[in-house]
Amino acid sequence: TLRDDVEINQVIRDGLTMMANEIRKHGEQFRLELTDQLPLLRGRGPRLEQVIINLVMNALEATHGMQEEVIVASRFNADTSMVEVTVSDTGCGIEPDTLKHLFEPFFTTKYAAGGTGLGLAICQSIIEEHMGSIRVDSSPGIGTTFTVSLPVSRKAK
Ligand code: ADP
Ligand code: MG
Repeated sequence: TLRDDVEINQVIRDGLTMMANEIRKHGEQFRLELTDQLPLLRGRGPRLEQVIINLVMNALEATHGMQEEVIVASRFNADTSMVEVTVSDTGCGIEPDTLKHLFEPFFTTKYAAGGTGLGLAICQSIIEEHMGSIRVDSSPGIGTTFTVSLPVSRKAK
């Protein structure tokens, strides 16, 4: 498969630009905490952009306007040599029973809103294509953080 050198901060910015209207419409406090000069990744920018979009969309759907916050951050984890992207929200959180099924295709709790239940399944397969991993930490009533870990390009220092 064709793979390019990908600058993750640019992928994040592109994904958020695509969602600018959604983000404005929802009205959450939105924060971007990007670490400069991260190592490059080897992969497909548009595919990784889809991951960002799906995670941020879920964060917006889990929160309610100005009182709540969504934070997108990037950093390098020196212990694992992976670039990490986190999408955090101070929204409804996830019940333990729900957590088990989160990445299953067609699993959704958004029946009324017509959720497809495909967003996280797609995220997971894209991240697996990139030899990465995705993890979720969540507390009901407090909030949720998704952490995506991606290996850096061997060419990068
Ligand atoms: P959909 O958004 O269409 O329901 P997803 O695969 O994107 O499908 O998400 C599956 C389920 O995971 C959601 O229905 C919701 O219950 C839960 N979920 C995902 N992200 C969050 C979040 N940030 N906060 C609370 N629940 C979440
Ligand atoms: Mg979704």
